[in-house]
Amino acid sequence: MKNRYIYLSLIFLFTATSAMAAPVADAGTDQTVLDREGDGSETVVLESSASTGTIVGWEWKEGSTVISTAVRCLATFPVGSHTVTLTVTNDLAQVDTDTMNVTVTALSGPKQRRNLKDTPGANRFVRPLDLVWPTTDGEADICLWKDDMFAAASLSVDDNTVPNHDWWIAQCNLYGWKMTWFVITDQVLNGGSYYGPWSEFQQLADLGHMIQSHSVTHQGNDDVRPDSEMIVEYRDSITAIESNLTGATVSTAAWPYGKFNRDVGAMYYTAARGTAGTPNKPELTDYLKTASPSTIMGKDYIDSVMLGTSGISWMGNDAYTRGWISSFTHLIQTGDLDATASNLAYAASFPNLWVGFFKDVARYGQERDTATLA
Ligand SMILES: [Zn+2]
Repeated sequence: MKNRYIYLSLIFLFTATSAMAAPVADAGTDQTVLDREGDGSETVVLESSASTGTIVGWEWKEGSTVISTAVRCLATFPVGSHTVTLTVTNDLAQVDTDTMNVTVTALSGPKQRRNLKDTPGANRFVRPLDLVWPTTDGEADICLWKDDMFAAASLSVDDNTVPNHDWWIAQCNLYGWKMTWFVITDQVLNGGSYYGPWSEFQQLADLGHMIQSHSVTHQGNDDVRPDSEMIVEYRDSITAIESNLTGATVSTAAWPYGKFNRDVGAMYYTAARGTAGTPNKPELTDYLKTASPSTIMGKDYIDSVMLGTSGISWMGNDAYTRGWISSFTHLIQTGDLDATASNLAYAASFPNLWVGFFKDVARYGQERDTATLA
């Protein structure tokens, strides 16, 4: 009897363990999205991480069509209503399913373009080299830059770089400039004095500077990592900043090492900074990977966009006249601070140079590039 009792107990235990480990699929909440580009379809993120159990397999389907076999993915749906079925499998080969609906609504009225996500294949317009006024009184024209400024620049710092915060605050105060700090959010949380804490960034935000994303973990191969990982990198860095800083909203990024996933990036950001070291030609700007010199506001760069000349030959001859310097830097060593300060003073000597937030210059450019005059 005693042996039989143990045997029955083991059956009970085994049954209970299996019941506990049975997977429960969670396909996420229903989504209703607008076809913002007016191209007949829209892309959404499907997320199943709220599923429970030791899950080893995922399958997202619409009807009999497999969308993805990843824990989360991008999926593009035509205008209309779609039922998505998620099937999860655990390590004991048990399965469970859940469904969710994606509704893509048609755009009515003017296009509300989310961003210009693609690399421009050709000039979008002829770049005016001078300030051009309409030939007839009362005619409208689109200014190349805000308030008809001649050229544009934006200042940004990567990799958190707390030791330079006070110096940058003082420099910006001299000229009334605001700048963008692209932060690695996991590094802030790790608490080292170079990368954090959050209170350092709250101070910058309270002074009117902008805190934006430089990913969660700052890896060097974001161009080849799977979508399921890049969704987490981009999405969770936004969540970290917005939940830790009062008043912060994140819509732009700087790509670690210039490497990125364009389709996933376009889901989360309206614009992002790359690392190629030239000014941006307004008619050819890749808003999801702006050219971005790490020489912060160097004289040769300022001259190239303001005067059409440069001490660096390839930036002269009007190659970048009226362009956008999307500059960035990392730590500026103490011995180099004075030289950088004189670069900034030189830039400030041009009242017709718009020094704006990275986000604002990118937004102005995208609105300009898609605007039409009736
Ligand atoms: Zn970096």
